[in-house]
Amino acid sequence: MKINPPTATAAICLVVPAIILAWAATAFVKSESARMNTLVADADKAAVEASAAAKLKAAVKTAKDCAETALASLAQGPSTSDLAALSDGNVWIRNAFLWRKRDGVLFPREKGATHEERRFLARYVTLFEEGFGDAPTPRVQRGKAASSWFADETPSVMWRAWYEGERLSFIGWRWMADGTVAGVELETVAFLAQFPSILSESAPPGLVLAVRSGSSKVDFTTASVPAGRPPEATVSLAPELPHAEIAVWRVVPSPADSHAVFFAVSIAAVSILLLVAGGWLLVREAGRERMDSERKTSFVSNVSHELKTPLTSIRLYAEMLSEGRVADDGERRRYLGVIVRECGRLTRLVNNVLDFGRLEQRRRRFEMAETDLRTVARDAAESLRSRVEAADMKLSIELPGKAVVRRVDGDALSQVVVNLMDNAVKYAAGGKALDVKVEAGGRLVVADRGDGVAPRDRERIFERFYRCDDSLAAASSGSGLGLAIARGLARGMGGELGYAPRDGGGSEFIIDFGGEE
Ligand code: ADP
Repeated sequence: MKINPPTATAAICLVVPAIILAWAATAFVKSESARMNTLVADADKAAVEASAAAKLKAAVKTAKDCAETALASLAQGPSTSDLAALSDGNVWIRNAFLWRKRDGVLFPREKGATHEERRFLARYVTLFEEGFGDAPTPRVQRGKAASSWFADETPSVMWRAWYEGERLSFIGWRWMADGTVAGVELETVAFLAQFPSILSESAPPGLVLAVRSGSSKVDFTTASVPAGRPPEATVSLAPELPHAEIAVWRVVPSPADSHAVFFAVSIAAVSILLLVAGGWLLVREAGRERMDSERKTSFVSNVSHELKTPLTSIRLYAEMLSEGRVADDGERRRYLGVIVRECGRLTRLVNNVLDFGRLEQRRRRFEMAETDLRTVARDAAESLRSRVEAADMKLSIELPGKAVVRRVDGDALSQVVVNLMDNAVKYAAGGKALDVKVEAGGRLVVADRGDGVAPRDRERIFERFYRCDDSLAAASSGSGLGLAIARGLARGMGGELGYAPRDGGGSEFIIDFGGEE
C-alpha cells in the first residue's frame, strides 16, 4: 500500500519525536529521581544524625560518664570491698577490677570468684595478659612532691570496646598513683535496653530505623525492615558504638518520587498522544490510499468505457459512410453530425484527463488577465447551447448590466463552466431548466433543476475519482474527474468552487471570485 509522502512525513514527524521524547523523558526522570533521592537520603541522614544517633550516643556517654565518676572517686590503694562496691552500687557498672603489671589481676581473684567474675576474667583474658603497658611517668610540678602526681589532675579514663563474638562490651580503666590499674566493665544492657524506645521516639516520620552491628545484623528496629531493599542511608554510631550504625529506609514515597511519577506520567501521556495522533494519521492515510486505489481502478474501467462508446459510434458511422452504404444526403449529414459530436466528447474526455495530470503535478499554467466574467459565461454557455437543447433542456443566461471584471484565465474559467454544464446535461436533464448566471459580487453560478446531490456527497463530489454512483451500470458514465478539475482550476485562479442545494430543488455550482460589487 502506498502512503501519501506528506502525510507519512507528518506521521513520522509525530511518531519519531514521540519516541525520542519518551526516551529522553525516561532518562531524565531516572537521573532526576536518582538525584532527588540522593538529596532526600542526605536530608534523612541529617535528620537521623540530629535525633536518633545523637540520643543513642548520649545514652552510651551517660553510662561512660557515670562509670568515670565512680572510677575517679576510687581511693588510692583500693580495698577489695571498695572495688566490689563499684559494681554493686552502680547500675552502669557490671564488673570492677584491679591489675598490676607484674602480678596481673589482683581483683577479682580466680580463687573464690563468683560465676560472673569467672566469666569476666575469661572474657578479658587476652587484655589482662597483654596488659596496660607501663605506668605513665608522673608529671612533676614545681614545689610538689612526685608522689602527689594525679592528685591535682583529673584522672583520665581510657575506654576500649570489646567484642566477644557478636557481643559488644566496654571496659574502662585509670592508672592509680601506686602503679596499679583500676577499671570497670560497663553494664551494656543498661543502655542498650533504652535503645528501642530512643529509636522509636526519635525516628523522623516516614522512616524505618534499625541499629545494625558489624555484620549488618539488625539489633533493634522501629518497624519491620523492607525486605530485600538496601537502606537509603546509613549513619555511623562510632566512636561511641564502634562497628554499629543506624540504617535508614524510607517507607512513604519521597516528594522526589511523587514529582518524578507526576512528571513521568505527563510525559508518557504526551508521548502516547503523539503516538496515537501519528498512528491515526497513518491509518487514515492508508484508508484514503486504499479508497483512492479502488477509485482509480473504477476510473480506468469508466474511462475505457467512456472512450469505447464514442469510438464505436464513430467507427460504425464512418465505415457506413466510407462504404457508400448511405444513399440519402440528409442521413449522411446526420451520421457526420454524430461523428463530430462524438469526437467532441472524446476531446473533452482526453482534455480532462490531461488537465487532471497537469493540475496534480502543479504544472498547469494560468494566463491571468482582467476579464469580464459575463463574456466568459456567455461564450461558454452558448458553445454548449446545441447540446443542452438536444438534451431537451432550456438554457437561460442571466448577466448583470455592468461588467464584472476579475483577474482570471478566460480559457480555464470557460472549461470550468463547460464541465459544470456538461454535468447538468448528464445528471439533471430531467429537470429541464439549466441556468447560467453571473452576479455583480463576482460569483458565476451554474444551476439546474435535477435531483441535486445528497448531503453526505456534497463535499466528496469534488474529490478526484469520486462518483455518487460508481457502477458501470450507472445511468451516466464518467471519470469522477470533472468536478475535481473544475475546483482545481477555480482555486488555481484564486477563486473557489462549491455546491449548494438550490431552493425549490436542484443543484447550484458556484464559482466565487469575491471582490466588490
Ligand atoms: P463524473 O461526472 O465524471 O462522474 P464529476 O467529478 O464531474 O465526475 O462529478 C462527480 C459526481 O457528482 C457525479 O458522478 C455525479 O454523481 C455528481 N454530480 C455532478 N454534477 C451534478 C449535478 N448537476 N446534479 C447531480 N449530481 C451531480
